[in-house]
Amino acid sequence: MTKTLLRGRILTFHADPAETEDNHLYIEDGAILIADGVIEAVGSHDELRRQGLADGAREIDHRPHLILPGFIDPHIHFPQVQVIASWGTQLLDWLNRYTFPEEARYADRDHATRMAGAFLDQLVAHGTTTACAFSSVHRGSTEALFEAADARGMALIAGKVMMDRNAPEGVRDTAQSGYDDSKALIARWHGNGRLRFAITPRFAITSTPEQMEAAGALAAEYPAMHIQSHLSENLAEIDYTLQLYPAARDYLDVYERYGLLGRQSLMGHCIHLREREIARMAETGTRAIFCPTSNLFLGSGLFDADGLRAAGIVSGIATDVGGGTSYSLLQTLNEGYKVLQLRSQKLHPLAAFHWATRGNAVALGMEDRIGSIRPGGEADLVVLDSRATPDMALRAERIETLSEELFLLQILGDDRAVAQTYVAGQPMKPAVPVG
Ligand SMILES: [Zn+2]
Repeated sequence: MTKTLLRGRILTFHADPAETEDNHLYIEDGAILIADGVIEAVGSHDELRRQGLADGAREIDHRPHLILPGFIDPHIHFPQVQVIASWGTQLLDWLNRYTFPEEARYADRDHATRMAGAFLDQLVAHGTTTACAFSSVHRGSTEALFEAADARGMALIAGKVMMDRNAPEGVRDTAQSGYDDSKALIARWHGNGRLRFAITPRFAITSTPEQMEAAGALAAEYPAMHIQSHLSENLAEIDYTLQLYPAARDYLDVYERYGLLGRQSLMGHCIHLREREIARMAETGTRAIFCPTSNLFLGSGLFDADGLRAAGIVSGIATDVGGGTSYSLLQTLNEGYKVLQLRSQKLHPLAAFHWATRGNAVALGMEDRIGSIRPGGEADLVVLDSRATPDMALRAERIETLSEELFLLQILGDDRAVAQTYVAGQPMKPAVPVG
């Protein structure tokens, strides 16, 4: 098989800049040698050429662009591609008025197949190479999503949502069918190529205690499997949850009672947490996922990144389309920066780009395979053009440091700044003229 040599300005992280001074590797004239979807070597272009490692390789020159690990989106809803930008509501009304009726359409397998392709095309267009996605309640729509990801060679984590109450007919399962459909999907897709299944009780409000028990049974049967849900996004949501689960000490306790916490457990939002919840998340290793564009769009609240880090909680950062308003992790970092400004917290550009790449891989427990550029890692990469638009090019004239360039990408960048996305070494966007 022909090897590929990518040339460009390489940036990758090996530690969190918010915690460690020695955190990244930057190579001005760098090269990445790829074979069979895996990174074989990384170094200066001269060095790799001199050592003869790249002999016979097809070279693609991305200079002067930056090459980073592909972005990772640890919380996104596939059946909401046509819900994004729905006006005028906060969480519970937004679900009832827009989202549940839309997700009902995914009972139609043909519709789900068309949307699955469109969804993954949007991810790679925005430089995202791995996502942890909620599907609809339907087994067929989750099949469609896995099929589309498999065809693209993407490392995708996805789960059929379990929801058996407080939702209209058409987006409800039962405790038993939610369990059975999840098992069937696990048997067919989990560990198949780069695909993984996630146990996905939507959130406490839409699951009966019987269904939470079924989700807990799956978690016990598959202890290494991801679990994804929502936690403390909105004050009305919290009140309603505690009415539905009167014995629970707090919202987190609902999930804890059914064995749904742990390092594999990804909780979207985590905005209005009580002290006990923060302490238990830290003790159990449960992940908090910050969804800034969604939190602003739905008026949910301001995530406390520094507070959760100080408490020892690992956080990811995600788009949460379609409560979120952009597929772009760059735009997500932009809004994340602003949310943290309102908390008087500072998101440094190096910390931001670490978060969207290796940081999210750590949140997913997948940092041994994705999220950085190193030999043996999977060749998921994004090529970023800091001068992609006239306003970016104008600003770039006054930039002197790498951090300034990253911040420009974070604030002004979107899919137009993504010159190319590689999934397992394969270019996913039509080639654009470089330079
Ligand atoms: Zn969500």
